[in-house]
Amino acid sequence: MTEIDDIKEYLKENLSEKRYNHSLGVADEAVRLAERYGADKLKAYIAGLVHDCAKEIKNDEAKKLLKEKYSVTIDMVMMNTHKLLHGPLGACMIQDLFDINDIEIIDAVKYHTTAKASMNLLTKIIYIADYIEPNRDFEGVDDLRKIAYEDIDEAIMVGVDWTISELIEKNSMFHPDTVHARNFLLFQKANL
Ligand code: FE
Ligand code: FE
Repeated sequence: MTEIDDIKEYLKENLSEKRYNHSLGVADEAVRLAERYGADKLKAYIAGLVHDCAKEIKNDEAKKLLKEKYSVTIDMVMMNTHKLLHGPLGACMIQDLFDINDIEIIDAVKYHTTAKASMNLLTKIIYIADYIEPNRDFEGVDDLRKIAYEDIDEAIMVGVDWTISELIEKNSMFHPDTVHARNFLLFQKANL
C-alpha cells in the first residue's frame, strides 16, 4: 500500500481544499468511531481519508473510467445520479492508485453514499463519519453525533432516512441499495 503521507499528497493535489479537509475530518471521526465500536483504527483512518477520492471527477469522465478502464458495470440509477458514481469509482481507484487491497476498506468506499443491506462495521463507520465529521454543520448534526456514539445502527437509520427524504424532495431517484439498507435495519430491529 502507498504510504499515508503520499496518499495525502495525492488528495491535496486532486481535491479542493474543502473536500481535502472533509476527508481528514472523516478519517479522524472514523478513528474515534472505531475506538468506540472496536474496529481496526488504521483501516478506519485510511478508508475515511480516501472515501471521496473520486468525488471531483466529472460525470462523463467517471462513467468512462468505470466502463473502459475498470470494466465495472453500473446500474441505471447509479449511471443517472452523478453523486453516486464516486463510490464505486473511488473503490476502483484506491486499488489502482494506492494499492489498497483490503476488501473492507474497498467496500466502505464503494458503499459510503448509498449504504447497503448487511454492512460490515467499517462500512457503517465510514457512512456515519461522512455525516458527522467536525466540519459538518447542518441542522440536527449534533443530535446525530450523539446517536452515532450510542447506537451506530440507529444513526445509520437516521442518515438513510435523511437521504431518502432529501431525494424525494428533489424528485430524484434513490438507489435500491439505500432501500435495502433501510429494510435490513428495520428487520434487524424487529428481530425478524
Ligand atoms: Fe462521498
Ligand atoms: Fe464525503
